[in-house]
Amino acid sequence: MKYTKEYFLRFMEIFAKHLAENKDYLTQLDAAIGDGDHGINMDRGAKTALQRLSDTNPSTPSAVLRTIGMALLSSVGGAAGPLYGTAFMKMSIALGNKEEIDDKELVKALEQALLGIKGLGKAQVGEKTMVDVWEPVVTFLKEEIINGNKELKDVCNELVLLAEERMKATIPMQARKGRASYLGERSIGHQDPGATSSYLFFKSLCEALGGN
Ligand code: ADP
Ligand code: MG
Repeated sequence: MKYTKEYFLRFMEIFAKHLAENKDYLTQLDAAIGDGDHGINMDRGAKTALQRLSDTNPSTPSAVLRTIGMALLSSVGGAAGPLYGTAFMKMSIALGNKEEIDDKELVKALEQALLGIKGLGKAQVGEKTMVDVWEPVVTFLKEEIINGNKELKDVCNELVLLAEERMKATIPMQARKGRASYLGERSIGHQDPGATSSYLFFKSLCEALGGN
């Protein structure tokens, strides 16, 4: 499939809708092991991103992603703003000036986003962060799409199930990074808010395929 700027705009609208609908849920998850602002942060960032997209009408996939990244970097405080902002900026850089992106290029851009998140936050899998969803999902996509020559649409059912499973797998983990790590063992037994918004991110990538 070819991914145009319309695909990425549709993705952002869907991601923003999920973040708005899950604002209270994400905030409750963050209240249990953090400071209770993740839902508020992400909803504000997504709304700012949509506003800037409609104000500036960027012309390529890369420009759409850069606009989103800059909006998140400038409007979302805490850990998640810079982490998600970096992810979108890295994707934007990876896509260059192309008008149309193919499946392999999309996966390579997601891999760069993961590297950006890990470079900034220094989290590894198992430390109860968004990396616990991002890394296994990117590994899966590389295997299926880059090595296996499949398209995203062929693997979306599996991808969403995998993201959900990895999100839930953060419940028994002890947080080693971010604010939740201050709780030590008391962070065990709660689902990580950033892993939860990351599940919504990947679900939105798949749901945005619907309009093509
Ligand atoms: P803050 O913790 O500053 O209040 P948010 O509440 O918006 O920021 O986001 C918290 C989420 O950020 C966590 O649930 C976790 O998934 C993610 N996070 C925190 N620190 C890191 C890190 N070093 N690397 C990756 N993700 C992190
Ligand atoms: Mg927080």
